[in-house]
Amino acid sequence: MKKKGFFGGTFDPIHFGHLNLALQLQERCGLDEVYFCPARSSPLKTEQPPTAAAHHRREMVELAIAPIPSFKLLTLELDREGPSYTIDTIRALSREGEWYLILGEDVIHDFARWKEVEQLVTLARPLIGSRTSKMGLPIGCSPQLQKVIEKGTIKIPLVDISSTELRQRLIRGQYCGHLVPEPVLSYINQHALYR
Ligand code: ATP
Repeated sequence: MKKKGFFGGTFDPIHFGHLNLALQLQERCGLDEVYFCPARSSPLKTEQPPTAAAHHRREMVELAIAPIPSFKLLTLELDREGPSYTIDTIRALSREGEWYLILGEDVIHDFARWKEVEQLVTLARPLIGSRTSKMGLPIGCSPQLQKVIEKGTIKIPLVDISSTELRQRLIRGQYCGHLVPEPVLSYINQHALYR
């Protein structure tokens, strides 16, 4: 059975930090494929909806992953109305292949608040790219969830970029070629995104 990584995010826009996380975890864990799944909107970021339209975020993900054949695009969260819950997506996918959740360490503090998280981690085991081998655990974390997080924490070199910082640089008209792949930057400029 194929080992598949599920990588959800708003990708507003996608950057080298995302690509580095996915590649490092793929190589370390022997994943056959990684599926990038842009969310329509994040249930935990309701006060801050994505800046770029869904079709632009999808296009930028496609451009960024194009050089890596084992990286794929999944559009089912964009095709579905309302906020994107990972459990709903994983339920729809889990019959085919063995799924793993690709996560950055910054999402872990909120992880216990994810919809049906206990069920989610049984359908897709989390792999958490972290600067350290031992991370802080989420508030309200059950002993089972704690075990899953500790087991899935993988120390990798991270690239310290956030989409928030990137958007701010784009607004200020600062150079961003060191933060995003060139085709993504060209797309951003061509469509005057994040101005
Ligand atoms: P924002 O700054 O808008 O909150 P973000 O850069 O954190 O965005 P998201 O699309 O919200 O990007 O993140 C999706 C996933 O990618 C999350 O699991 C997050 O932890 C991870 N991630 C984001 N940036 C990095 C990075 N530089 N290194 C490792 N993981 C990252």
